[in-house]
Amino acid sequence: MLIVMSSTATPDHVRGVCDRVRELGLTPNEIPGAVRVAIGITGNKGALDPALFNRLPGVQEAVAVSKPWKLVSREVKPDDTVIDVRGVKIGGGALVMMAGPCSVESREQVLSTARHVREQGARILRGGAFKPRTSPYDFQGLREEGLALLAEARDVTGMPIITEVKDTETLKVVAEVADILQIGARNMQNFSLLEAVGALGKPVMLKRGIASTVNEWLMAAEYVVSRGNYQVMLCERGIRTFETMTRNTLDLGVLPILRGITHLPIVVDPSHGTGVARAVGPMTRAAAATGVDGIIVEVHPNPSKALSDGPQALTFDMFTELMGDVRNVTAALGQTLG
Ligand code: PEP
Ligand code: MN
Repeated sequence: MLIVMSSTATPDHVRGVCDRVRELGLTPNEIPGAVRVAIGITGNKGALDPALFNRLPGVQEAVAVSKPWKLVSREVKPDDTVIDVRGVKIGGGALVMMAGPCSVESREQVLSTARHVREQGARILRGGAFKPRTSPYDFQGLREEGLALLAEARDVTGMPIITEVKDTETLKVVAEVADILQIGARNMQNFSLLEAVGALGKPVMLKRGIASTVNEWLMAAEYVVSRGNYQVMLCERGIRTFETMTRNTLDLGVLPILRGITHLPIVVDPSHGTGVARAVGPMTRAAAATGVDGIIVEVHPNPSKALSDGPQALTFDMFTELMGDVRNVTAALGQTLG
């Protein structure tokens, strides 16, 4: 249930409603938003009677929320969530490009990539330090050293950084450096990790699970938001299907649906979504044409030598060309490049 407060409601009225919700054994969640004050109620098993709240002082109306994921829904928060990452705004209109290597491999590799993508218009630097690899024999990331190199790249270029947090054990060290915590596809339903990043209050990018429905994905986002952290963006990175020509099937069809049902910013990852470098540019153009808030791609100075995800990495020249295309698409849509 959502309690919408009247424009004349005082902080005491809001407190009164929250106290009443707690008396009923439920949880009040104050919904951030510039236009109105609202309180989302969670924790109820069945439907709640609006009459329980309708006549409390300051209440304009009590409305039932039909979706199982409450706090991430547009029913509860109609305005777009905008996440401010060191001055880069994700959500609310502009398209923000994020780029960098799959894994941080060396100082030279990450600094040269950061400089190039920054020059071409990327605003956020990506790079994995703790890597979740399918095989235990594959490169697992430079770990703490990788984080230090990302921090150095941020100092040099001024770009905020996004990096994956693989488990609760390393959350503290990763969160000390990361500006955005990436939860990978393999961890989308790691509920302890979701709760921990929810409690931390740092921006989170939640990737869609390898075989997850939109409902499961939004329920995972609800874990983070219900801990009080509304700074969550969703990242479509392809799902497992019967097709083997691509690594995953990039599910572009869900993007307009997501836009209608959730207020969270939407990011697309055409690199993992296809697994094929030559498909990344066209799928980036397609994703941009749907009007998403962010696109994240993998770039490497020498893809054939990459320690992870080489086949999908763009060369510097490919990234330059891709940024030209992105500018054309956003201009055609009347959208700005963040
Ligand atoms: C990555 O971003 O390098 C990564 C491992 O992504 P995903 O979790 O989508 O596979
Ligand atoms: Mn990767």
